[in-house]
Amino acid sequence: MNINRSRFANLSRTATVRRLLAMVLVVLAFLSWPDSVSAQTFAKSSGKEKGKKVDSALPNGPRDYRSANFLVHTDLPADEANDLLKRLETMLALISKYWGKPNKQTIEMFVVRDLEVWPPNALERIGRESIEQRAGITISSTSVNRQTGQLLAAKSRVYAIADRGVPQHEAVHAYCHQSFGRAGPTWYAEGLAEMGHCWREGESRVHCLPHVVKYLRSVEPKPLRAIVNGRDQTGDSWQNYAWRWALCHLLANNPNYFDRFRPLGLGILADQPDATFERVYGSMSQEIAFEYLFFLQHFDLGYEVTLTAWDWKTKFRSATATLPVTCVVEAKRGWQASRLQVKAGDEIEVSAEGTWSLSADGPEFTPFGIELPVAKPDSEKPGKVPKSATPKRASKAGTEALEELPSVMRYESRFKPGQLVGVLLNDYELSEPFPIPADGAFVAPGDGQLFLRCEEAWNRLADNKGKVNVKFKVKADK
Ligand SMILES: [Zn+2]
Repeated sequence: MNINRSRFANLSRTATVRRLLAMVLVVLAFLSWPDSVSAQTFAKSSGKEKGKKVDSALPNGPRDYRSANFLVHTDLPADEANDLLKRLETMLALISKYWGKPNKQTIEMFVVRDLEVWPPNALERIGRESIEQRAGITISSTSVNRQTGQLLAAKSRVYAIADRGVPQHEAVHAYCHQSFGRAGPTWYAEGLAEMGHCWREGESRVHCLPHVVKYLRSVEPKPLRAIVNGRDQTGDSWQNYAWRWALCHLLANNPNYFDRFRPLGLGILADQPDATFERVYGSMSQEIAFEYLFFLQHFDLGYEVTLTAWDWKTKFRSATATLPVTCVVEAKRGWQASRLQVKAGDEIEVSAEGTWSLSADGPEFTPFGIELPVAKPDSEKPGKVPKSATPKRASKAGTEALEELPSVMRYESRFKPGQLVGVLLNDYELSEPFPIPADGAFVAPGDGQLFLRCEEAWNRLADNKGKVNVKFKVKADK
């Protein structure tokens, strides 16, 4: 089953392409879902097809649908076909804006729901085989100048099962090939194609398919190096696509890494030899590995890496009886630097003031997680909570107006909602989180830098309001 895949994937190596000015067949991508039951059903039905006369004018047979950038041949009913065109156009507008290159050539796609209603010769063999496996494939012919490596012409054809974002995924490959002549190494090409079909204008929340969340949250994380350096072929499995999506989603949206990600991608698509993950991110590989693991352990639909990006810059120090350490903790963000460095056994006095709430119009909580009686909107105590904490990295669309996405995983916590919670970071490892007694004292459970947050489900932070001022002193010797 994999033989064809690797044979064609190997053809896409740029060395071959460069050698002559030639048309090179590049089969970019298979998308294979582990839907073996359905795949078998399809294999059977295509076997039956032999003896069956297929009329090209079958009432439910394929028809053509056009929009500004797409020509779609499909057996989907007209309303679904038009809906697909609309989604493809929206996605194309987003990705071509991202890569800064408008699409110049019609993208031709064969989108199949039921192979039985297609005339036997309507699909080329390789496309039909992919669809029989309920997958998708993009076939590109590219013509390249042998001296300069410059793309002269490219034409892609997409074959896709009408299911689970496969047409959108393949359309990203087709756009890349037709616009740049290539789609990059597997981790990038497949990661971005998976991102493409869940892209939403102006927001960075996780919008992937629920089974992707379930899978990534329930298995041992695949190491970062295995994703980036893997010799994996395209089209290997939807599970591998999920890992590549996770990494690309993180790098494209996390403020610590996104300013390097787009130039890296453009370099990859321009075939620049120094545009590699190692060169661009090598110096921050430990930070990325940490945040990648953190993302995999905590994300769900609606999770925002903009709100949970790790603070690697703030300086930490220890507190003394006379020289306290102070910080501000925002309700809507993930772990935030307290600036306090602790040693195991340090007795620390803490005081916290301010209130916060866990939804736009929900009740306010003290930093102990105690719900306050409802007060009139204007009766906030002066000097405590600013009326609206300006989010530093709010999305353009304004996160408060967005509807809540349903969680896939159950969020479990031993802390009260709204409780101030701490965690220690030591050599890229996190301790178990522990509650901070917001007025009182606690003993540092280990060595490390103290990070703080307001307790709440990780994918529900965006609509939180308020912040808390925290002060730490080391208990004076008695
Ligand atoms: Zn793909």
